Amino acid sequence: MTNDEFRRYGHQVVDWMADYLENIREYPVLSSIQPGDLVDRLPAAAPERGEPMDAILEDFEQSIVPALTHWNHPRFLAYFAVSGSPPGILGEMLMAALNVNGMLWKSCPAATELEQVTLSWLRQWMGLPQEFFGIIYDTASIASMHAIAAAREMADPEVRTRGNTGRLVMYTSEQSHSSIEKGGITLGIGQNNIRQIPVDESFRMRVDILRERMEADRQASLSPFLVVATVGTTSTSSIDPVPAIADVAEEYGAWLHVDAAYGGAAAVVPELRGVLNGAERAHSLVVNPHKWLFTPIDCSVFYTTRPEILRRAFSLVPEYLKTGENPRAINLMDYGVQLGRRFRALKLWFVMRNLGHDGICAIIRSHIGYAQKLAALIRSHRDFEVAAPTPFSLICFRYRGSDDDNRALLEKVNASGKAFLSHTVLNGRFVIRLAIGNIATQWQDLEEVWDLVKQTAAREQGDDAGLPQAVN
Ligand code: PLP
Repeated sequence: MTNDEFRRYGHQVVDWMADYLENIREYPVLSSIQPGDLVDRLPAAAPERGEPMDAILEDFEQSIVPALTHWNHPRFLAYFAVSGSPPGILGEMLMAALNVNGMLWKSCPAATELEQVTLSWLRQWMGLPQEFFGIIYDTASIASMHAIAAAREMADPEVRTRGNTGRLVMYTSEQSHSSIEKGGITLGIGQNNIRQIPVDESFRMRVDILRERMEADRQASLSPFLVVATVGTTSTSSIDPVPAIADVAEEYGAWLHVDAAYGGAAAVVPELRGVLNGAERAHSLVVNPHKWLFTPIDCSVFYTTRPEILRRAFSLVPEYLKTGENPRAINLMDYGVQLGRRFRALKLWFVMRNLGHDGICAIIRSHIGYAQKLAALIRSHRDFEVAAPTPFSLICFRYRGSDDDNRALLEKVNASGKAFLSHTVLNGRFVIRLAIGNIATQWQDLEEVWDLVKQTAAREQGDDAGLPQAVN
């Protein structure tokens, strides 16, 4: 590609992106393709000769776009939003153009130092103490895995050479994200040594049971080494009682990790800072700017007050990567399993600077406000119920019918292409989840979705005599 062509297609692609974001509501949120359709549509082998960009862009439009789930859609309300923003997209484009590898300070001083600066800014916004050292990983799953590895290193430094003994035990709630258990599996802790502590009626970890289990394990000559609390659980966004959990973790000398992948973003809003109460006592915490801080995936921020332990767990420097010692030259490869690393701080810096603290707070406040308003509407409807508290911007609700009725309702709503909601199971019952977090979501979008849900339930009632009447 010549430089002139690069310039021309670059402009064309940016124009496409601007049109896409402007007209996003015209796309169906969920693709209607069937599994395997795209594979069948595309050639089985790569082209022998280079093809013109016009043909590639045409195929992108005709084959790839119809197979997309539009996470940018303001009525994408499933899972937790992975919401980008225009400044984040521009940062991501420049990252690709620069294509630096920030494994060492020397391999790209800008990547290393901008990461320190942006994560210090974010730490201040979240009200976390200065001792928290920050590093960016790709996802919260990987960040939490690093927390488990650091906790293991603190409890049993021999593990690096000798391997696991099978005596280390970790604790998390039964509502915590599956990535915590996966991290424990990956690091050889073993599923038998991962305790899923029951929750209370608001889906928060039961601290009395945590203490009982840790004590029982200690009596059995096992070593409780890590407690993982969650601020904003995946199913309901519940907030574990972190201060009380910190007391217990401290009593047993265990590492405390806080998974605030989603909920941590709310702490950026000054009046919501309390959601992280107790987290200042944690050894580590993860928050995902790619969830609710409008930074394109992937960008997960890991903070720890014990970076030296993280480094001890992971540092292994082959000759070809040795550099001179300078305390200000941090080599980020020493703080994790990966060597190569993308310049993710660039897009976060673009987002933080362009949206500003005020801008980000305003969007998060609006999402929480919409959730409160919608939850009140759902609660006041005789055919629906809210199934869990709504501390952030996630609403769990259900139609007052059977699980099958709720499953059918969700499927119909999603098949309409007008919205995408997800589900969970709470206390053995199927529950619909509606998570607000997209930068483009307006109250009108949510009114439309609520109307769609009510109308679909009413229509289902016509199809199925077993369903009660849905009314306004
Ligand atoms: N932790 C919580 C509380 C989550 O809700 C999620 C995903 O939704 C994760 C961790 C995993 O996030 P990631 O996709 O960044 O690994």
